[in-house]
Amino acid sequence: MIKAKGYAAQSPTTDLAPWNFDRREPGPHDVQFDILYCGVCHSDLHQIKNDWFPGIFPMVPGHEIVGKVVKVGDHVKKFKIGDIAGTGCLVDSCRVCENCKRDLEQYCLNGGSQTYNGLEQDHKTPTYGGYSNTIVVHEDFVLHISPKLDLAASAPLLCAGITTYSPLRHWKVGKGHKLAVLGLGGLGHMGVKFGVAFGADVTVLSTSPKKEADAKKLGAHHFVVTTDANQLKAATGSFDFILDTVSAEHDLNLYMSLLKTDGVHICVGVPSHPAPVAAFSLIGGRKSLAGSGIGGLAETQEMLDFCAEHGIVSDIEMIDIKNIHTAYDRMLKGDVRYRFVIDMATL
Ligand code: NAP
Ligand code: ZN
Ligand code: ZN
Repeated sequence: MIKAKGYAAQSPTTDLAPWNFDRREPGPHDVQFDILYCGVCHSDLHQIKNDWFPGIFPMVPGHEIVGKVVKVGDHVKKFKIGDIAGTGCLVDSCRVCENCKRDLEQYCLNGGSQTYNGLEQDHKTPTYGGYSNTIVVHEDFVLHISPKLDLAASAPLLCAGITTYSPLRHWKVGKGHKLAVLGLGGLGHMGVKFGVAFGADVTVLSTSPKKEADAKKLGAHHFVVTTDANQLKAATGSFDFILDTVSAEHDLNLYMSLLKTDGVHICVGVPSHPAPVAAFSLIGGRKSLAGSGIGGLAETQEMLDFCAEHGIVSDIEMIDIKNIHTAYDRMLKGDVRYRFVIDMATL
């Protein structure tokens, strides 16, 4: 066993604190990498607080993980010691179901292994995430990150990046489309960058008027303050797609009224409670309400390569792991510009 250290929540009512735990020695197909940076996703906070479902504790969060390879198993082909490696929200999946065979491991029909708050494919051993010094992952679930990219700022690509890239690609969002990104946080700011890179006309829908200048710097063409009834009214019926990244309860019916006929409202944000949807919100204009979860491994690598080619990374604020709770408090207030990343040297 490898002695690892990290930050864990021992229960949904306790703060994160230092914790020592074991990881497996790398097997023939495993890569071990020492973690340099880990992004702070709102899902980390949802899960340590049991917002969605009862979690597996102790819980070491973190699924935007970038580091340097220190050990590889005998059969590993894709990585060698010293390579830069990344892991996102998945560390394994069944590999044999219909979805795994279609490179949609995120929708594994037999239960994929989430990077933390999950179980390995033995369906017994808990997984521990990236708020830690080192990790061991099967090479099929380890990604290459271009050394051309700023490493700390590329960590969030592994969740915030792929979660916004994948639906925009799936719905072929691009030139001639009006895309609204709802919520300008970690996911939202990546949604803006990808929407702009794909050629869409991008509007940010935000509760925070102070983010307007940033939205424009990120490349957004328009900015609508959603708490201003006049601005909202002016935007009625104007978007082909809404990429909804909001982490808290909000009125889907209100936002769907901003879609054009045949428009699609894509949920990627996961509030803790279900939202009521009126049939009239869908019927009036043949609208669709859809959702999307992270992305498969092949698409995640495609996204990372796209980012390397186009110089896309996250806008980050680096933090000391000891300040994780301040970062969470700020994230809850929508005050994140636009992703916190933990410098793991501070562990
Ligand atoms: P985040 O950085 O906290 O951003 C969320 C943004 O939503 C905030 O910055 C804020 O933007 C807006 N917001 C917050 N409360 C709101 C409210 N009551 N009404 C309207 N807008 C509100 O969070 P994140 O890391 O981007 O994650 C966003 C959500 O996506 C979370 O629920 C997370 O769990 C989920 N997620 C899903 C997937 C997936 O696979 N589908 C993957 C990763 C994360 P403004 O200030 O601009 O209003
Ligand atoms: Zn995430
Ligand atoms: Zn599967």
